[in-house]
Amino acid sequence: MSEAFTWLFLAALAAASATRLWLARRQVRHVRAHRDAVPASFARSIPLEAHRKAADYTVAKTRLAMLGVFVHAAVLLAFTLGGALQAISDLWASSFERASLAHGTAFLVTVAVVLAALNLPLAIYRVFVIEQRFGFNRITPRLFVSDLVKQVLVALALGVPLILAVLWLMEKMGEHWWAYVWVLWNAFLLAVNMIAPTLILPLFNKLTPYTEGEVPARVRALLERCGFKARGVFLMDGSKRSSHGNAFFAGFGTAKRIVLFDTLVERLEPPEVEAVLAHELGHYRLHHIVKSLVLGALVSFAGLWLLGQLVDKPWFYAGLGVSTPGTAAALALFLLVIPEFMFFLDPVASHYSRKHEFEADSYAVAHADRAGLEQALVKLYRDNAATLTPDPLHSAFYDSHPPAAARIARLKEAAT
Ligand SMILES: [Zn+2]
Repeated sequence: MSEAFTWLFLAALAAASATRLWLARRQVRHVRAHRDAVPASFARSIPLEAHRKAADYTVAKTRLAMLGVFVHAAVLLAFTLGGALQAISDLWASSFERASLAHGTAFLVTVAVVLAALNLPLAIYRVFVIEQRFGFNRITPRLFVSDLVKQVLVALALGVPLILAVLWLMEKMGEHWWAYVWVLWNAFLLAVNMIAPTLILPLFNKLTPYTEGEVPARVRALLERCGFKARGVFLMDGSKRSSHGNAFFAGFGTAKRIVLFDTLVERLEPPEVEAVLAHELGHYRLHHIVKSLVLGALVSFAGLWLLGQLVDKPWFYAGLGVSTPGTAAALALFLLVIPEFMFFLDPVASHYSRKHEFEADSYAVAHADRAGLEQALVKLYRDNAATLTPDPLHSAFYDSHPPAAARIARLKEAAT
């Protein structure tokens, strides 16, 4: 049984990796083939030079993603069949009793730290080579390191108590432990979302109340029109890390804050900022946020139920290179391996997300200026060097946002 499971895992990993590489190759070819001609509908708004830059940027990012596929597969194999998880477990067995909470926590934290460290070189390359080469990077090595240190501390402060609680529930709650863990997990997510805007976000960024000028006035009028309550509009210093612009809502209920990146406000005209914000408001008003939370809760329910079935099956451990079964090992194996089996569901999630984007665009044009949204989208695609000519299959598989041409065509349709 365990050998059959090993082969099943290898087949899933191979199928997912081959598909990732195949899609990336398609993307590179498609983008390159369209590099020297701006699509007709953008001919007046996007210069050829910007179009070429977007093509080169997309190709560079996709190539890095291809390298990432190999790194990911190698790391996954090393951790499972290669015996790295077992080695980490053995290492801590000399300090703590193997089935103890202390051993399980030390084991899981070590696994997470080693995985993060292995992913670091690619992240550094992306920021300091690719983003730098295309002029998007603003982060200094010093800020990069200080961000990293803070991220690790926040992850430990939140993660260690969570791990302890999960392992405790797995030990003490009998065969239905997974239902208790599910409740805990969702409560944890909700709590993190609630404290994030006031306790976590300010560790990384400075938020200043944004009250003076045309943009805040327009935002207030927009909120009024849409019957939307928020606790203020804030400007965030996103420019210290990257020149990519963004806008988002932070927090829940009436504690929601509207956060605009300074880079967004710098580059868009006030009616365009208003239209972008109307789009974000659309996500709230059309319950996309709540729907995503509910969907996430359903997925985690199914996942934890499945883990509940696997945790006492010897073949699950032996088939993945672990010789000392236990709750912590089960968690680590499950989190590492399950994405490979779920990979072919990614296009479903992407489709769902793109559908929401179209809906939010419709909401935005109903409550703000259509031309403003159209201009904002063109500027954002241009300034972020997002390709206008993605490979259709690559886009269908991965893209959370519809390609620019499709989005703008819908807006024009709505106008007629
Ligand atoms: Zn959106």
